[in-house]
Amino acid sequence: MSGIPYTPPYAEVIGDPIAHSKSPLIHTFWLEALGIAGDYRRAHVRPDGLAAYIAERRADPDWRGCNVTIPHKVAVMDLVDDPGNIRGTIGAMNTVVRQPDGALIGTNTDAAGFYAPLAELDLEGAPVAVIGAGGAARAVLFALARAGVGPVTILNRSPLKAMGLLATFGLKGDVVALDAPLPPAALLVNASSLGMIGQPPLDLDLAPLPEGAIVYDLVYAPLRTGLLAAAEARGLDTVDGLDMLIGQAALAFELFFGRPPPEGRDDELRALLTA
Ligand code: NAP
Repeated sequence: MSGIPYTPPYAEVIGDPIAHSKSPLIHTFWLEALGIAGDYRRAHVRPDGLAAYIAERRADPDWRGCNVTIPHKVAVMDLVDDPGNIRGTIGAMNTVVRQPDGALIGTNTDAAGFYAPLAELDLEGAPVAVIGAGGAARAVLFALARAGVGPVTILNRSPLKAMGLLATFGLKGDVVALDAPLPPAALLVNASSLGMIGQPPLDLDLAPLPEGAIVYDLVYAPLRTGLLAAAEARGLDTVDGLDMLIGQAALAFELFFGRPPPEGRDDELRALLTA
């Protein structure tokens, strides 16, 4: 027996603020379900402390990496390696993974997490409407461009920002105001903060959406948003924000701890997250 005490590996979620993050609940649930001796913590990192945090953790062999949330998703790109060219594509990182030699690789699991609930659908050529042009919208538009969707209408408060995103992702489409009528989209995605607790509501007339359209709200607090309630009332299919939250976390978990989350436990996890 060596005298070196065993310290379990750990990962973290960093942000400012961070107390509200649901990531520790998700990762801890999976660690316990798989019997992995590891830990997943919250770390409150302010913008002026980001570089020091990254330098310190880089030197810690027990640290497997971190999830990155507001306001660090762009700034962290200057501090880590970017072999997947995330800077040139999505333009924001939500995951940093430490390699055994101390190299830090940044990536983004939001785009794949967003797309996971839609993966079985054929969206090629389908008209889509997206609300928002912030960080989450970038991941959404990146995934939609990869899926080969048809024209994309972005509804956003700041039109110039939204026009830039259409160009960045090589998408055909248009940009309209938030109160413009919806196009007859097969998929409507709310990637804005509207409808979130503490934010203004998102009031849309869903009448222009065709039968069979899907309404996907990234907001998960509350889980059943006004938008999803209106979509259900119209008999449309809905996807809520927990699917993406769990999807992006699952990819990060495997990168941190080397194993995918356990299968067949999503209902239990959703119940825990909404308790
Ligand atoms: P962000 O970068 O700050 O972008 C916010 C977007 O909402 C921008 O397009 C902004 O419009 C718009 N917006 C905010 N306040 C508004 C207001 N009062 N009136 C009109 N438009 C307003 O935030 P984000 O990171 O993209 O996050 C957006 C939402 O997605 C949040 O609710 C977040 O919780 C959710 N999200 C969920 C997941 C998940 O896993 N489910 C993952 C990431 C994000 P402007 O462009 O005009 O500023």
